[in-house]
Amino acid sequence: MSSWSAGTIVVVEDDQHIADLVELYLREEGFRVIQAHDGQKGLDAVRDQAPRLVILDVGLPGTIDGLEVCRRLRAKDDLPVLMLTARDGEVDRVLGLELGADDYVTKPFSPRELVARVKAILRRVEGPPRDRPDIVLVGGVEVDPGRREARVDGVVVPLATREFDLLHFLADNAGLALSRQQLLDGVWGPDWYGDERTVDVHVRQLRKKLGDALPLATVWGVGYRLG
Ligand code: CA
Repeated sequence: MSSWSAGTIVVVEDDQHIADLVELYLREEGFRVIQAHDGQKGLDAVRDQAPRLVILDVGLPGTIDGLEVCRRLRAKDDLPVLMLTARDGEVDRVLGLELGADDYVTKPFSPRELVARVKAILRRVEGPPRDRPDIVLVGGVEVDPGRREARVDGVVVPLATREFDLLHFLADNAGLALSRQQLLDGVWGPDWYGDERTVDVHVRQLRKKLGDALPLATVWGVGYRLG
């Protein structure tokens, strides 16, 4: 059994049959599903579970209906919301109130279509994974290629362009001993005619700026290894 998860989705729906059906189909796609059966429990679940998306029925028992839940979620952040509506009248209200729901589905709906809508919303809102390069943690240094930042204890450490490129390349190849020539090729490019000591100079700068947080070892006779 894999521990991989596509993330958490909170399903706020008082109709147990529909909630179970939606959960079943989302689980098949690797999502972790948290059910909530009224508006307040839905808000609590969003607060506690850090979901990627909320599926929200308009008609909920109690004092907080789906429209109000959506309004409160929207007041806080950009968490994607997919509304479930029972009647055309509800669609009108969802659209008319401009609550900012990302999409809606009218009951009765096909669970497969619902899952397809969920994926489409996540793609649209979050962008494809390739657009968000992974942040790598090596030792005590966070390497964030998207923002071109190195952080130690959450604080940005200013690096020159080539210093960051070198750190990024080392982090991508963490655990491997890399020769100075490999580092020159990888960071400066194969057409760069420079002295291998250029690498040493930049390594010295990285060590100076990042200190003990940087687990960068000198491999005698070879070059350097990070992590
Ligand atoms: Ca309902």
